[in-house]
Amino acid sequence: MSLLNETHNPALRSWVASANADGSDFPIQNLPFGVFRRYGSAEAFRVGVAIGDQILDLSAAHAHNLFTNGAKQATLACCAPNLNAFMALGSQAWAALRLALSRALREGYTLQSALSTCLVPQVDAEFAVPAQIGDYTDFYTSVHHATNVGKLFRPDNPLMPNYKWLPIGYHGRSSSIGISGQAFHRPVSQTMAPGATEPTLTASKRMDYELELGVYMGTANALGEPVALDEAEDHVFGLCLFNDWSARDIQGWEYQPLGPFLSKNFASTVSPWIVTLEALSPYRQPWTRPSDDPQPLPYLDSATLRSSGAIDIELEVFIQSAAMREQGLPEHRLSRSNFRHAYWTVSQMVAHHTVNGCNLQPGDLLGSGTQSGPTLEEAGALIELSVGASRSLALPSGESRTFLEDGDTVTFRGACEKPGAARIGFGEVSGTLLPARALV
Ligand code: CA
Repeated sequence: MSLLNETHNPALRSWVASANADGSDFPIQNLPFGVFRRYGSAEAFRVGVAIGDQILDLSAAHAHNLFTNGAKQATLACCAPNLNAFMALGSQAWAALRLALSRALREGYTLQSALSTCLVPQVDAEFAVPAQIGDYTDFYTSVHHATNVGKLFRPDNPLMPNYKWLPIGYHGRSSSIGISGQAFHRPVSQTMAPGATEPTLTASKRMDYELELGVYMGTANALGEPVALDEAEDHVFGLCLFNDWSARDIQGWEYQPLGPFLSKNFASTVSPWIVTLEALSPYRQPWTRPSDDPQPLPYLDSATLRSSGAIDIELEVFIQSAAMREQGLPEHRLSRSNFRHAYWTVSQMVAHHTVNGCNLQPGDLLGSGTQSGPTLEEAGALIELSVGASRSLALPSGESRTFLEDGDTVTFRGACEKPGAARIGFGEVSGTLLPARALV
């Protein structure tokens, strides 16, 4: 568990002026990690840290020999096309580099002129998936989402009896995870139309997004060695925004008995920046379980969890249709929610995932599951907002939606904000649905 330290001081200001602007996602108290290169260049992708509207190129900073000791070792691990080596170094190395970066980017840093040559404007950059994601596991931690979707799929039995006892998850697919800006074709698979007696091979007619957070694992646990709940966050590098695109008609036909398959594995999109757990320390909140619900088994419960297991992250979903783009209309907000509503926490996901000895590795990604809040307006997917397509949503262009149409761009944003702490933003994750390819 990270405690507050000098890097969280809301009074800190950076010599990178844009980092001090009101509403910046990337003030000096944030310092999220990503992988970038200059847009359209043949440069190698490399690790950078967001500061204001700039990226600090850590390979360049390492070459200038500006850091010492643990921070120097950490920047060496960042001289790579992904974050895996740095993730594997562990929480002490992450904290050492964060402290060194915080001090080097503060107003008054003596080597500012040397470090300023290591900045690249974010508008001039393109990004890559920041880690080599070996394995991806998707959870289902919002009881509101599970109940809303369960009612549509199984009206007589919306919430399965295991839901309140363990963090439900399934093993997903990492090969189709892309970076923000990802465009992908409407997927084709078998669906069973309402009232039909046989399925057909068809393009999905019920395309949806899922508002999720992604959790990147840092240090591994050895095969056979569970991670205890109170050690779980030491293994977690940080969080990103995550869109787990879903084809609901494909899902409805295929999901029993083994869970989602082709309804989920055609595309999933991550945001460029990973916000470290340490940066999120000011936004920890007590985790509670309603008193008439089952309390967690001991391996999923602790005093630390109860005092600070939840994280207050405001999440928003926007849509922009092709017609809206042509008409010059801005994106339209569909909903907002908050990660603090999650029924299961990051530490509980990790503790449960490993309790059987399953080994998690640096760069592995855990999806939080769709983060729907308690009210319909806070739903994190169209299947909930449209109540299974029984209610259509009006767009500013005069169009309406139940599910996504070809050309729709969906964007998530996330941020933590409260009095007495610096705003910590996640940037955004965006993706666009293309028409289906011709059927084979
Ligand atoms: Ca999901």
